[in-house]
Amino acid sequence: MTMIDSADIQRAADWIRNADGIVIAAGAGMSVDSGLPDFRGTDGLWTSLLPAGMTERDVGSLTQGDCFVEKPVDAWRFYGRALQVCRQLKPHAGYAMLKHWAEGARHGAFVFTSNVDGHFQAAGYDEARVLECHGTINFMQCGKPCDDAIWPSGSMMDGVDIDSLAASSLPRCPHCGHLARPNFLLFDDGLWVETRSSSQWERLRIWLRTVQRPVVIELGAGAAVPSVRMFAESVLGPLIRINLDESEVAGEGVGIRGTALDVLSAIDAALATP
Ligand SMILES: [Zn+2]
Repeated sequence: MTMIDSADIQRAADWIRNADGIVIAAGAGMSVDSGLPDFRGTDGLWTSLLPAGMTERDVGSLTQGDCFVEKPVDAWRFYGRALQVCRQLKPHAGYAMLKHWAEGARHGAFVFTSNVDGHFQAAGYDEARVLECHGTINFMQCGKPCDDAIWPSGSMMDGVDIDSLAASSLPRCPHCGHLARPNFLLFDDGLWVETRSSSQWERLRIWLRTVQRPVVIELGAGAAVPSVRMFAESVLGPLIRINLDESEVAGEGVGIRGTALDVLSAIDAALATP
């Protein structure tokens, strides 16, 4: 564990105490502490999660939007495994800490996450207070797509032997019979159905208008895919940026270097001390 500056932790705790709404802006670093990699990027964690016969070199092409068209069996082995892992692993203790803090704020919390693992909902967060800017692995859509319909992934991959998946056994769209795919955004992906994310955006805008003194807690959001950082910086309130590598903050706020779980635990201890 790295040394965390206690004055920074105190400032963060004070902002959280005084806020009437908490904006939680989560990037891949939030999921890493539960053992999950960023499913849209490349990361050393892949090695332990890759299906048989695949190497880390295969990951790049499987983050492209056309992977379900170009190599559907590989894509489904990869993301079928990812779905299994997302369902098996439990959200780490930091989710419950944030949720507890939010219960002390008048307007609670709203989550903005680029993670597709659905772990905020799994940790008991209100579905109506989560925006998944890159979609979710917990819903499916048509790979064509024939229309805007999405449906829950549910237990579709539970107990499935991923290595035995073949073209004939891949999930299909219930409406047209075309290959199905997860409802998340890949790179250069023109086929993503974004209706769910769009209505989440609408709910977030409405919530933000009700909050007078927001605080933003940004967790493990990298600069390479800046959606989460850009959103976090757009909110008019102090920014608590928690990041292992790139923790600098330009405007009002504090940058705390460390893993999401370490820093959340430190802030939680400070909040417990009157
Ligand atoms: Zn279809």
